[in-house]
Amino acid sequence: MKMKNHNCRVCGLYITTKPWGNDGQNPTFEICPCCGVEFGNEDYSLDSIRNFRKEWLGKGAPWFDPKQKPLNWKLEDQLQSIPDDYF
Ligand SMILES: [Zn+2]
Repeated sequence: MKMKNHNCRVCGLYITTKPWGNDGQNPTFEICPCCGVEFGNEDYSLDSIRNFRKEWLGKGAPWFDPKQKPLNWKLEDQLQSIPDDYF
């Protein structure tokens, strides 16, 4: 099974520093540069994750920090990287 503890639970972006720590219990409270979720805040439950993702997608999936957006970024590809438990 593929470990996805480096990926944002909302948008699937690969995050260098694991958003919820090694044990998945210690969020960094950093902001995802893609969807703008604060790890440990709006991604604390499946409901809040789905709501945040729905709102973000509804706005057209804008990058919180557009400077970090890769040139060839594809939303559909990144969504595949959302951890299975949080889809
Ligand atoms: Zn994100």
